[in-house]
Amino acid sequence: MSEEIPQAFYRFDQNPNYLAARALEAELFGGGAVNPYFRMIEGLDGSTAIIAGRPYVNYASYNYLGLSGDPRVSAAAIAAIGRYGTSASASRVASGERPVHRELEAEIADFLGVEDAVAFVSGHATNVTVIGHLFGRKDLILHDSLIHNSIQQGCLLSGAKRVTFPHNDWETLDRILSQHRQNYERVLIVIEGVYSMDGDMPDLPRFVALRNKYKTFLMIDEAHSLGVVGGTGRGLCEYFNIAPGDVDLWMGTLSKTLAGCGGYIGGCQALVDYLRYTAPGFVFSVGMSPPDAAASLAALRLLRQEPERVARLQARCRRFLDLAKEAGLDTGHSRDSAVIPIIVGDSRLAIGLSQVLFDQGIFALPIVHPAVSARNARVRFFLTSQHSEAQIEATVACLADFVGRLELTAPTA
Ligand code: PMP
Repeated sequence: MSEEIPQAFYRFDQNPNYLAARALEAELFGGGAVNPYFRMIEGLDGSTAIIAGRPYVNYASYNYLGLSGDPRVSAAAIAAIGRYGTSASASRVASGERPVHRELEAEIADFLGVEDAVAFVSGHATNVTVIGHLFGRKDLILHDSLIHNSIQQGCLLSGAKRVTFPHNDWETLDRILSQHRQNYERVLIVIEGVYSMDGDMPDLPRFVALRNKYKTFLMIDEAHSLGVVGGTGRGLCEYFNIAPGDVDLWMGTLSKTLAGCGGYIGGCQALVDYLRYTAPGFVFSVGMSPPDAAASLAALRLLRQEPERVARLQARCRRFLDLAKEAGLDTGHSRDSAVIPIIVGDSRLAIGLSQVLFDQGIFALPIVHPAVSARNARVRFFLTSQHSEAQIEATVACLADFVGRLELTAPTA
């Protein structure tokens, strides 16, 4: 070979993106700050967690209703292992399914009020494979600027034209559709029920109106709204009193409220049948493990039987948000959700705040640039129905103290 091949093209340790990530790590943690990521959790992760033998109030868990760890959910998973073992071993199409698969899907569909649902082994993979499969080069996908990575990956895989609209801005979306709808065959609008960085929601009726006006498909990722939003935890449909059929693809994850691992799509029979027989991430991937399916099924049944969990979670979230606002903390646009950011506006400050909290027995993670812009750096809190009022009060007092001291030391010019 006459020309030298640069090392960056054949060595991972010379990959420019890897080197940039190492440089960022050195910048953020080189000065002695403790890296808060990949903490080892001992035992259950819920409103509390044990880390290195010490108990913490935990705000880094998606166990919104405390159902992971509930003895009835664990017992269902153990019973499924006893009956079916730990793996479905192959695709449900090829090697058959277990009753828990269908029972889970029927329960999800019934809860959402849609014709049917299909469950996948991963929430992330659900978005990638479903969007990647349903749409193609002649189609247009429009998604919110803060949409989750899994949806972006699905768009890339599909080969469809992808356009981002500003966060929650249905008016700009309307303008884009009025100009471009006619140039494409199928058009998909994708939004989230609750945005996981900010804890805010889209104005769903506006998006449904655009879906109807321009004859598009509408997809909602309810990862952070199922079990959290709406009087009985049915999510955005219930919150906005929308007919379930006004949204074409109800997507959700099983890893959060539903105490398992996986994702689902709920919708009309034709959609679900088509996905069951053709979606690559379903047809060519193993079925959900029986204990995971059984855990999520038990969790969903408990969510329905014990709606007071949802009410308690919502009360705790309101309490946290009210106290934080009273203390003058910047909670961004968070409302009526279990995700509450405390925006401090600087990556190192966010890491520092997380460390101060950790020293006081509170575990909440910083979100720094490039995950958000530097001026939006924050510490993010996920609430659960198991947090006590006292825990929330102590946490906000701690936050207010930190931010108050910052203001005292800030330069005045
Ligand atoms: N969608 C959203 C909005 C998410 O926040 C996540 C993960 N947190 C996913 C999809 C992927 O779900 P899972 O982690 O269950 O694969």
